[in-house]
Amino acid sequence: MMYQQAKHDRRLIMEKDGSSDYEVPFAHDAGELDDFAPASLVREALDLPSMPEREVVKHYVNLSQMNFCVDNGLYPLGSCTMKFNPKYADVLSSMPSVACVHPYQDEESVQGSLELMYRLERALCEISGMDAVTLQPAAGAHGEFTGMLLAKAYHDKSGELRDQVVVPDSAHGTNPSSAAMAGFEVIEIPSGQDGCVDLEALKAAVSDRTAAFMVTNPNTLGIFESQIREVASIVHEVGALLYYDGANLNAVMGKTSPGAMDFDIVHFNLHKTFATPHGGGGPGAGPVGVRERLVPFLPVPRVVQQEGRYRLEYDHPDSIGKVRMFYGNFAVLVRAYSYILRKGADGLQKASERAVLNSNYLKHRLQDVYDLPFKDLRKHEFVVSCKRLKEEKGVRALDVGKRLLDYGFHAPTIYFPSLVEEALMIEPTETETKQTLDQFAEVMRKIALEDDPEVVRSAPHNTSVHRVDEVYAAKEAILSWRAFKRRTEKG
Ligand SMILES: *Cc1c(COP(=O)(O)O)cnc(C)c1O
Repeated sequence: MMYQQAKHDRRLIMEKDGSSDYEVPFAHDAGELDDFAPASLVREALDLPSMPEREVVKHYVNLSQMNFCVDNGLYPLGSCTMKFNPKYADVLSSMPSVACVHPYQDEESVQGSLELMYRLERALCEISGMDAVTLQPAAGAHGEFTGMLLAKAYHDKSGELRDQVVVPDSAHGTNPSSAAMAGFEVIEIPSGQDGCVDLEALKAAVSDRTAAFMVTNPNTLGIFESQIREVASIVHEVGALLYYDGANLNAVMGKTSPGAMDFDIVHFNLHKTFATPHGGGGPGAGPVGVRERLVPFLPVPRVVQQEGRYRLEYDHPDSIGKVRMFYGNFAVLVRAYSYILRKGADGLQKASERAVLNSNYLKHRLQDVYDLPFKDLRKHEFVVSCKRLKEEKGVRALDVGKRLLDYGFHAPTIYFPSLVEEALMIEPTETETKQTLDQFAEVMRKIALEDDPEVVRSAPHNTSVHRVDEVYAAKEAILSWRAFKRRTEKG
């Protein structure tokens, strides 16, 4: 079962330019604009390709075929929930009544939009067991940052100087970053032998300087922190807040909730669990839910309902203010709301059950050929290690990820969480069939048992672009035509 990605002309559209004398439609004579624009802004010509629409469409469609996406294959990127996102959510969020609403419109003319936001907030409260939600933050990390500002405002208001945030070493990298950006000193504690929070280490780390403990449950190893209530008492005992990184709610929906686990603040990634693709470069949404005592600090405006009408309320003197212009990424909110309604409480619960089942099934099928650092049952994701493969054959987690592409599967998350050596973090999600999981398991086994390790080390072979220099690509990103030209002119 091999896979072959399309290979097309790899030149940029700008490099193809010049082959046509096609006139760009709508191009104005610069003179015509003089009346409107200041002279300094008027340009003689724009550096745009001039080619027929047909060529432009062909260029971009071919380009898309040289890439990999959630819609053309399994994308088991652990922690990221790259599941299939139903198309009805796209259709609904593209309706003119959604796409053409303007944030400056009068409240009376957007009652439907406000109602949708209000109801989505209530639904997220229900799912998370929190008392109120803000929809403003635009990403998971942004939600964390908002949560940290809320924790700060809360402690400041009670006159307490708390300047530290504690995180476990299995935390997603954005947790310590968000805490540091909000001005906190970050204290990292090691996980216990079982991959969970080490209660003794936690006790030793918290004090009257602790503002919050940030943790995700199930944690990034896919293990449910069964002692979470004890964790909560330790944190609350010293007057600190418990923060739930709910980027990925795929194992939890309808089964339990951060509220039931005694959390005080939680963020959601609507662009993981709730029908918007993650990591596609598009907008996301990272709503934040809180307990009653933190409600006064939530960002403004809040959507309120009064006598059947909806309006935006700004009068909250203790609010941390706005964390984003307007009201959040509205189209993402519409997708999430339609997904939640379409699934219903039962459907969300089933999605979680299926996600957990799929993950444990794959774990079971892989555990004899890959090392499994922690043995227990997993939730929506699990982590295997390529330590033995590296020692015996010189094949690293990165190589396995690259080789998977040759079979039409995207790589899992690699080298995270950092407490596992040569980690492959696999999250199959609930949207894959058993056939797909079986194919993936077969391929993973085949790669581990490959006679010629060089085939794996030099993969991928069947993609339009072969092994890239990732360090160079990350450090010298050329993301615009102008940067490309500067680069090539320099030589
Ligand atoms: C994805 C993720 C985040 C960050 O979300 P972004 O929207 O990418 O900023 C935070 N924590 C965990 C556990 C995640 O998986």
